[in-house]
Amino acid sequence: MTERCKQTVTAPGMGFGQRRQCRREAVKDGYCSLHHPDVVKARRAKVAANWAARQALRMAPFTAVEQLKKENTLLMQAVEIIAHPNTARTIEEAKRVARDALAVLATYRSKTGDS
Ligand SMILES: [Zn+2]
Repeated sequence: MTERCKQTVTAPGMGFGQRRQCRREAVKDGYCSLHHPDVVKARRAKVAANWAARQALRMAPFTAVEQLKKENTLLMQAVEIIAHPNTARTIEEAKRVARDALAVLATYRSKTGDS
Protein backbone atom coordinates (compact mmCIF):
# COMPACT_ATOMS: atom_id res chain seq x y z
CA MET A 1 0.00 0.00 0.00
CA THR A 2 1.30 3.42 -0.86
CA GLU A 3 2.05 5.75 1.99
CA ARG A 4 -0.28 8.76 2.33
CA CYS A 5 0.87 12.32 3.05
CA LYS A 6 0.79 12.97 6.80
CA GLN A 7 -0.51 16.54 6.44
CA THR A 8 -3.92 17.26 7.94
CA VAL A 9 -6.17 19.26 5.63
CA THR A 10 -9.59 20.82 5.48
CA ALA A 11 -11.23 19.57 2.32
CA PRO A 12 -13.74 21.56 0.29
CA GLY A 13 -17.26 20.84 1.51
CA MET A 14 -16.10 19.87 4.99
CA GLY A 15 -17.39 21.86 7.93
CA PHE A 16 -15.30 24.42 9.78
CA GLY A 17 -12.78 22.73 12.05
CA GLN A 18 -13.28 19.34 10.42
CA ARG A 19 -9.98 18.00 9.22
CA ARG A 20 -8.76 14.82 7.62
CA GLN A 21 -5.47 13.40 6.44
CA CYS A 22 -4.26 14.48 2.96
CA ARG A 23 -5.07 11.76 0.40
CA ARG A 24 -2.10 12.44 -1.85
CA GLU A 25 0.79 10.02 -2.07
CA ALA A 26 3.77 10.69 0.21
CA VAL A 27 6.87 11.29 -1.91
CA LYS A 28 9.36 12.78 0.58
CA ASP A 29 9.67 12.63 4.38
CA GLY A 30 6.08 11.40 4.64
CA TYR A 31 4.64 14.39 2.75
CA CYS A 32 3.18 14.76 -0.73
CA SER A 33 4.72 17.10 -3.29
CA LEU A 34 2.28 19.82 -2.15
CA HIS A 35 2.69 19.61 1.62
CA HIS A 36 6.41 18.97 2.18
CA PRO A 37 7.59 21.70 4.64
CA ASP A 38 10.31 22.86 2.20
CA VAL A 39 7.75 23.22 -0.61
CA VAL A 40 5.28 25.02 1.67
CA LYS A 41 8.05 27.37 2.84
CA ALA A 42 9.15 28.11 -0.75
CA ARG A 43 5.54 28.70 -1.83
CA ARG A 44 4.98 31.16 1.03
CA ALA A 45 8.24 32.97 0.26
CA LYS A 46 7.20 33.27 -3.39
CA VAL A 47 3.80 34.70 -2.39
CA ALA A 48 5.47 37.16 0.00
CA ALA A 49 8.00 38.27 -2.64
CA ASN A 50 5.22 38.69 -5.18
CA TRP A 51 3.19 40.78 -2.72
CA ALA A 52 6.22 42.95 -1.88
CA ALA A 53 6.92 43.52 -5.58
CA ARG A 54 3.32 44.53 -6.28
CA GLN A 55 3.32 46.76 -3.19
CA ALA A 56 6.53 48.48 -4.39
CA LEU A 57 4.89 49.02 -7.79
CA ARG A 58 1.79 50.53 -6.16
CA MET A 59 3.97 52.82 -4.04
CA ALA A 60 6.33 53.79 -6.90
CA PRO A 61 4.64 57.12 -7.77
CA PHE A 62 4.66 58.20 -4.09
CA THR A 63 8.25 57.04 -3.65
CA ALA A 64 9.25 59.04 -6.73
CA VAL A 65 7.51 62.17 -5.40
CA GLU A 66 9.24 61.79 -2.01
CA GLN A 67 12.60 61.43 -3.77
CA LEU A 68 11.98 64.56 -5.84
CA LYS A 69 10.99 66.51 -2.70
CA LYS A 70 14.27 65.47 -1.02
CA GLU A 71 16.27 66.42 -4.10
CA ASN A 72 14.42 69.73 -4.37
CA THR A 73 15.30 70.53 -0.74
CA LEU A 74 18.98 69.75 -1.36
CA LEU A 75 19.08 71.91 -4.48
CA MET A 76 17.28 74.80 -2.75
CA GLN A 77 19.81 74.64 0.12
CA ALA A 78 22.62 74.83 -2.43
CA VAL A 79 20.98 77.76 -4.23
CA GLU A 80 20.47 79.54 -0.90
CA ILE A 81 24.15 79.20 0.02
CA ILE A 82 25.31 80.24 -3.46
CA ALA A 83 23.00 83.30 -3.38
CA HIS A 84 23.80 84.16 0.25
CA PRO A 85 27.17 82.57 1.19
CA ASN A 86 26.89 83.89 4.76
CA THR A 87 23.81 81.67 5.42
CA ALA A 88 26.10 78.63 5.67
CA ARG A 89 27.01 78.21 9.33
CA THR A 90 30.40 76.75 8.41
CA ILE A 91 32.45 76.25 5.28
CA GLU A 92 32.03 72.49 5.85
CA GLU A 93 28.25 72.87 5.71
CA ALA A 94 28.53 74.84 2.45
CA LYS A 95 30.79 72.13 0.99
CA ARG A 96 28.43 69.35 2.12
CA VAL A 97 25.39 71.05 0.61
CA ALA A 98 27.28 71.69 -2.64
CA ARG A 99 28.43 68.03 -2.76
CA ASP A 100 24.87 66.77 -2.18
CA ALA A 101 23.51 69.11 -4.86
CA LEU A 102 26.15 67.95 -7.36
CA ALA A 103 25.29 64.31 -6.57
CA VAL A 104 21.61 65.04 -7.31
CA LEU A 105 22.50 66.78 -10.57
CA ALA A 106 24.75 63.85 -11.53
CA THR A 107 21.79 61.45 -11.18
CA TYR A 108 19.72 63.67 -13.52
CA ARG A 109 22.55 63.74 -16.07
CA SER A 110 22.80 59.94 -15.93
CA LYS A 111 18.98 59.60 -16.32
CA THR A 112 18.73 61.98 -19.27
CA GLY A 113 21.96 60.82 -20.91
CA ASP A 114 23.50 64.32 -20.93
CA SER A 115 27.23 64.54 -20.39
ZN1 LIG B 1 -0.36 16.32 1.17
